[in-house]
Amino acid sequence: MDFGETEERQALRTAVAEIARSFGPAYYAAHAAERKPCDELWAALGEAGFIGVNIPEEYGGGGGGLTDLALVCEEIAAQGTPLLLLLVSAAISAGVISEFGTDEQRKTWLPGLAAGTSKVVFAITEPDAGSNTHRLSTTAVRDGGGWRLSGSKYYISGVDEAEALLVVARTGEAGPKGPRLSLFLVRTDAPGLARHLLPVDVLLPERQFTLHFDDVYLEPESLIGAEGDGFRQVFHGLNPERITGAAMAVGIARHVLTTAARYANDRQVWSVPIGAHQGVAHPLAKAKIETELAALMTRQAAWQHDHGQPAGESSNMAKYAAAEAALAACDAAIQSHGGNGLSSEYGLMPYWGLARLMRIAPVNREMILNYVAQHSLGLPRSY
Ligand SMILES: Cc1cc2nc3c(=O)[nH]c(=O)nc-3n(C[C@H](O)[C@H](O)[C@H](O)COP(=O)(O)OP(=O)(O)OC[C@H]3O[C@@H](n4cnc5c(N)ncnc54)[C@H](O)[C@@H]3O)c2cc1C
Repeated sequence: MDFGETEERQALRTAVAEIARSFGPAYYAAHAAERKPCDELWAALGEAGFIGVNIPEEYGGGGGGLTDLALVCEEIAAQGTPLLLLLVSAAISAGVISEFGTDEQRKTWLPGLAAGTSKVVFAITEPDAGSNTHRLSTTAVRDGGGWRLSGSKYYISGVDEAEALLVVARTGEAGPKGPRLSLFLVRTDAPGLARHLLPVDVLLPERQFTLHFDDVYLEPESLIGAEGDGFRQVFHGLNPERITGAAMAVGIARHVLTTAARYANDRQVWSVPIGAHQGVAHPLAKAKIETELAALMTRQAAWQHDHGQPAGESSNMAKYAAAEAALAACDAAIQSHGGNGLSSEYGLMPYWGLARLMRIAPVNREMILNYVAQHSLGLPRSY
């Protein structure tokens, strides 16, 4: 068993970190406060080839795997500049198009995704379905060679930044195992698609939207993969989303712990730096341990995905552990900053908001506990 990282991956970490560091936490905090996408950072990373690190070389990507993309997500976040849309555009959409798209679809979409000049975001969540994908009601019906799409989605991130959406929709009659789902690429300017900003109170540069599809016409080539095979295809994308989400959370934890350790060494209000008080040091040390454990599980999950092994259990565990570690790290970092922990100047609150989001999305903590109870422990399904 080799826990070491190849020289190539270490070099990748260093190069990604260098770019992200040149933007830094102040850049991120300002964009989060203004709800303004981090376009300049995305473009710089795209130009250097890091956004498309997992896309096949023949389509302009780096030819790497999810392990490489997870590393990119972690390292960007560790410099205080996490990019939420990497989880959807790079991990899900680019992954699904690479795996299930036709050669034509790959040629159309992957070069832009690889270069960072185009984004394809992901739309599965619906107001009346929530975590229960069996209740999805957005439907695509045949219209000649194409399709007509109707329904609603909400909390869809980055629609304003994206060229297209990868939409999960019902097609045909439900089978014994639930609805038949299919995946469609829908351009964000498609006639009949209306979007409304859905304000959230966590500080994020990426904005969320409610979408209404009113009989949106989809060309035949909008369908990705096989009709009715959406569940399998979606799951091929959801593990990468969980793994890159975990990697981002590990990066957030690393960033806030580094910040807090520096502050706790410098700040002195009694006769010693506040970091000498165990009440300050222990929560930081505990979060550090939890972060390293989450990083290990994240690496395992990415490795399993890249080696074609079942990665559902490890992806879920990694996402759970990393979100909890990031939240604990943010909480300890904020507490060790005292009043400064809540100030705009010290800029910790945006990371707390993002870490808090990671306990809910892309899959909530309770659904992961359900999965582990049922699939890892063999307990009865509870819902
Ligand atoms: C900022 C933000 C960005 C997002 N971006 C996207 C995006 O880009 N694309 C997209 O498709 N979606 C996106 N989402 C949606 C997100 O994935 C969902 O909010 C998440 O999956 C949880 O679904 P829900 O909100 O419907 O919660 P619900 O399913 O309504 O559940 C509510 C709570 O009930 C509990 N619960 C539910 N079911 C069970 C059960 N069976 N057992 C135990 N407890 C249960 C959980 O605690 C859960 O948190 C985003 C959400 C936010 C807030």
